[in-house]
Amino acid sequence: MHKAALQAALDVATRYLDLVADRPVARPVAASALRERLGGSLPNTGEDPAEIVRELARNVDAGLVASAGPRYFGFVIGGSLPAALAADWLTSAWDQNAALYLASPAASVVETVVAEWLLDLLGLPASASVGLVTGGQMANFTGLAAGRDEVLRRLDWDVEERGLAGAPRITAVMGAEAHATIYTALRFLGIGKEQIRVVEADDQGRMRADALRTVLNSCTGPLIVCAQAGCVNTGAFDPLGEIAQLAHARNAWLHVDGAFGLWAAASSSKRSLVAGSAEADSWAVDGHKWLNVPYDCGIAVIRDSAAHARALRNARAAYLVGAVGGERDGQDWGPESSRRARAFPIYAALRSLGRQGVSALVDRCCAHAADLAVRLRTLEGAMVLNDVVLNQVLVRFHPPNAPEVDAGEFTRAVIRRVQEEGTCWLGPTSWRGSTAMRISVSNWQTSAHDMDRTFDSIERAHRAICNTANDATM
Ligand SMILES: *Cc1c(COP(=O)(O)O)cnc(C)c1O
Repeated sequence: MHKAALQAALDVATRYLDLVADRPVARPVAASALRERLGGSLPNTGEDPAEIVRELARNVDAGLVASAGPRYFGFVIGGSLPAALAADWLTSAWDQNAALYLASPAASVVETVVAEWLLDLLGLPASASVGLVTGGQMANFTGLAAGRDEVLRRLDWDVEERGLAGAPRITAVMGAEAHATIYTALRFLGIGKEQIRVVEADDQGRMRADALRTVLNSCTGPLIVCAQAGCVNTGAFDPLGEIAQLAHARNAWLHVDGAFGLWAAASSSKRSLVAGSAEADSWAVDGHKWLNVPYDCGIAVIRDSAAHARALRNARAAYLVGAVGGERDGQDWGPESSRRARAFPIYAALRSLGRQGVSALVDRCCAHAADLAVRLRTLEGAMVLNDVVLNQVLVRFHPPNAPEVDAGEFTRAVIRRVQEEGTCWLGPTSWRGSTAMRISVSNWQTSAHDMDRTFDSIERAHRAICNTANDATM
């Protein structure tokens, strides 16, 4: 009964993935054109499953972005390792509910296995607890929820019983380059902007420890400090050891947002970047970025498993019996109740790479980023803006012979040109007040040849925009 539809999906998917490296990475498409193909009124009667799969694939194709392919460098987006993708298909086929051990002993046990492996790889305490969530956003939420409840509990305020009204006022302290999802997570947790203190960052986006000390000295009441392992623009790491010392001297909860950067811990050559990370109280990391498992997959880690459980555990209805023998109920470690068994694709990814493979994946992406930065510097007027310590490159192009043309505008023009050509995709960002081209190398498949093609494409775009700028000034 299932075979025809699944076979259709397999055919479409293998064809897509065989060709993903050759299609334009992102084509301009109008939402209205997609709507025209996909919309219309809901059919009254059901249709053939296999035919729907094929037709869906045909009709969405123009709107697909080849972010699974090897030359997509936007945001921080990984692809899918073959083993992880296949295990993800099975996750859907098995359709396990990972909320309860009773609903899926297999999902529960594989969660405990990947939790151990992840803690080991990421250099985090073996006794910490792990929640599998949708992504960095919810991993930040989970870590900060545990932190919020714990700093209040230390003041004898039980959030579970009393809620937040009338509670001691928490101050959340973070660096100027903290990720937007930290703000969102705090908002979900009832901590508003007025309760946030922003600490100055240095030229690489790292929170300045001396500035943190000053801010902490001026704070009273319960404290949460949010540090970052891997700035989304520069890849830079906050000085985590110093921050941990300062935060803990004030009895603050320290959360580390390491959505992609925490994977540096898995590489012997990059591990020093995360020094001090293990001193924190909670960590957020993504599976769907650098580990290259399919969306969606985030990982929340909390040192104090009791604090984790108090903040996130399910407020059980009578029919949601807990597991006998203390087995793991997934719903107790994250904000969701019913959810997919996210551990299966993580398990497959980790086994298909092995410890060495994870390390090599991190090293390879970082080496590609570093090499590209060296080559970009050879372009006239190009300035690489960050120390390329990880997998991120920021570059701004100054028009060589047209000083009156704004570098930000010029850089945006180069980016647009690259995007239009479709060899690769990279996006703009705003860095210290002006536009920069931002390149993130996060895909397991990206090869040296892909990086050659990427550099050639940027060089072509740069030359073309230089010529246009020069023509315009003549
Ligand atoms: C991507 C990212 C996030 C958000 O993660 P999602 O998986 O998009 O929810 C948070 N922090 C940092 C540093 C990131 O790079």
